[in-house]
Amino acid sequence: MIELRDVSKTVMSGTEPLTILHPLRLSVSRGQFLAILGPSGSGKSTLLGLIAGLDAPTSGQVVIDGVDITRLGEDALARLRGEKIGFVFQFFHLIPSLTAYENVAVPMEIAGAPDPRTRAERLLEEVGLTGRAHHYPSQLSGGEQQRVAIARALANDPPIVLADEPTGNLDSTNGRHIMELLRDIHRTRHTTVVLVTHDAELAALADLRLVLRDGRVVEGAGAAP
Ligand code: ADP
Ligand code: MG
Repeated sequence: MIELRDVSKTVMSGTEPLTILHPLRLSVSRGQFLAILGPSGSGKSTLLGLIAGLDAPTSGQVVIDGVDITRLGEDALARLRGEKIGFVFQFFHLIPSLTAYENVAVPMEIAGAPDPRTRAERLLEEVGLTGRAHHYPSQLSGGEQQRVAIARALANDPPIVLADEPTGNLDSTNGRHIMELLRDIHRTRHTTVVLVTHDAELAALADLRLVLRDGRVVEGAGAAP
């Protein structure tokens, strides 16, 4: 479902090239759950951004569901992302002027998805938020906001969900509940999940683990060729 072939990322830091991700290979099959671990600054978000096609690699290919996304133009890439990938962020990224329900329904309406209202209601139910649907993000706890963000990420029923430290801004109880929710989604929807986390205990729930340090895989799936 996700394949990285000798993917690397080098950026210019002033006048010097700086390699923030050294060439790595990675293969995640349909329905697998991969956890990416590593200290702050080790390249985890960079790697997730490359998988999502939000950023282009300096070398190598990123293949999503059989399509080499490094060869796609902007429009085709945006379409593929919309169809195949749901993204969950550490800081939720909800629209503050929209209710929980609207945060889920409005992107579906804009995309012209069929029956956005019923689907938004069902998604909020799936993430356990039925009673809070008409609250604004500021009226919700961090854990509840992240549930809304997860419902939104699932709106197009994507085969892949990417989550960048989704529990990083939550207390341990709420973090645990969000992790259980992601695990339930993985199990019931057979979604391919890639989760970036600092928490080794949470990562233990995954099928595959990859540990990054200074832009290199030091342990697990995808160790340097
Ligand atoms: P992590 O998510 O593991 O904390 P990141 O992938 O965000 O790490 O960043 C890895 C390293 O690359 C960090 O040292 C960061 O400062 C650096 N970095 C990320 N993006 C850029 C960029 N566009 N230009 C320069 N340095 C960057
Ligand atoms: Mg990061």
